[in-house]
Amino acid sequence: MIDPMVLRALREQVASSSRRLATEGLVLGTAGNVSARQGDLIAITPTGARLAELRAEQVTVVDPDGHPVDGALAPTSELDLHLGIYRRYRAGAVVHTHAPMATAMSLVLDELPCVHYQLVELGGTVPVAPYRTFGTPELAEAVLDALENGTAALMANHGGIAHGPDLESALHRTLLLEWGCELYWRASSLGVPRTLDRAQRAEYEAQVSAKSYGSTRPLR
Ligand SMILES: [Zn+2]
Repeated sequence: MIDPMVLRALREQVASSSRRLATEGLVLGTAGNVSARQGDLIAITPTGARLAELRAEQVTVVDPDGHPVDGALAPTSELDLHLGIYRRYRAGAVVHTHAPMATAMSLVLDELPCVHYQLVELGGTVPVAPYRTFGTPELAEAVLDALENGTAALMANHGGIAHGPDLESALHRTLLLEWGCELYWRASSLGVPRTLDRAQRAEYEAQVSAKSYGSTRPLR
């Protein structure tokens, strides 16, 4: 028995995150897709929908095998990619975009180097999955492999992808990936950017846990 409140909330999250991506300039028209999971329910953007205007009732709901559970519209053509990430990485949400900077970097790089400590949240160095035709099992497989050591990847000549325990986190990582790509682009136009080595990244992670970095705390 599916709780209609859970379904409603999941669809609202996917619709509002899609509109937010459009507002941020990370998706244009129908390019990009978003999903969120609650238990065995996966709410996912429909194929062909303009994300800037997506409404909750347009969001499709499927089970972990991709069978329709609720909704009237066919899911995104990258359904297999999303389902694969839920299966392999137990994620709570997935965001895929053709964001301008991430996509530009996917044309020229083999990996985005870890040039800033904030990129450690994405796994440090962000890999670029090899080019495969959109919507194919081959693309899903290539991207799943690229996500082996991190929570984000670029997709060669295509775009970027990020996952997280919930949509807020997957959205944040998508914005972080775009920021990192823009940062690398700006720095590369000035010279050869320095990168953080393994020891520096490990030290950063130790400092994060020691200082509870990223969350507010009382003065005393
Ligand atoms: Zn795409």
